[in-house]
Amino acid sequence: MKIIKTIKEMKTVLASHREQMKIIGFVPTMGYLHQGHLSLIGRARQSSDIVVISIFVNPTQFGPQEDLARYPRDLKRDEELAEQEGADYIFYPDVSEMYPEGYKTYVLVEELSKKMCGASRPEHFRGVTTIVLKLLNIIQPHCAYFGQKDAQQAIIIRRMVEDLNLDVKIEVEPIVREADGLAMSSRNSYLKAKERKAALVLYHALTLAQKLIKQGERNSSVIISQMEKFIRQEPLARIDYISIVDNRNLQELALINKEALIALAVYIGKTRLIDNITIQG
Ligand code: AMP
Repeated sequence: MKIIKTIKEMKTVLASHREQMKIIGFVPTMGYLHQGHLSLIGRARQSSDIVVISIFVNPTQFGPQEDLARYPRDLKRDEELAEQEGADYIFYPDVSEMYPEGYKTYVLVEELSKKMCGASRPEHFRGVTTIVLKLLNIIQPHCAYFGQKDAQQAIIIRRMVEDLNLDVKIEVEPIVREADGLAMSSRNSYLKAKERKAALVLYHALTLAQKLIKQGERNSSVIISQMEKFIRQEPLARIDYISIVDNRNLQELALINKEALIALAVYIGKTRLIDNITIQG
């Protein structure tokens, strides 16, 4: 496995693989790899000749008050994990490589970027779509792999790929969870012992919703208020949002009568966590 830091070298190396008709799979990440990332790399490994991952903590998707500076990083460990999982290249550019002086161009997927996570993180998805488009242009993979953990992100990226006629297949893989149900996330490393326990409210609120739906409840506001009531019992938790939306276009659903996404963001202490489930209508 090789680490590549410049766009020029990354493009040159991949151009020769492409000439040899190799199938290129790509997994974009911000590093501090966990099983969620590794499952994407494993999927890419199954379906590609060449697996590229990127590790880039993208400053344009962090708000001014957010955790850019303290976002966890450990390249040595990431290298070992990515290699074990079968990655061939880590693209690991500096910020100045991706955003050189004079950089001015951003891509925005309208409406979808303003809802849910976009309401409390107004610039976030503009940063995500910009960096993902740049990475897709540099790597030019046949397929790029994303996690259902960031369900809104996946929907926005699919929209961008379709709207901008990009020649890449997007695959979205299931959420990988800890044994007790907590969705894996690099940000879980921020949680102190008490917060780690409290963080289970996200998963438990989602399983509560699932149970209510199984019992026949279809009214979203009833389900959301039950979830809110449940989360409020946890003193370390503060709800950012709970949404029940159409799983294709993020339109709010008053009634769950088609495939729905139930998504939430909750602060546990200072750490903002997200999770979701999908429900067949
Ligand atoms: P990140 O490094 O957090 O930007 O995540 C990189 C990719 O890994 C994104 O496509 C995420 O959706 C995906 N991912 C993160 N956590 C998980 C998880 N627990 N299960 C599945 N995919 C995940």
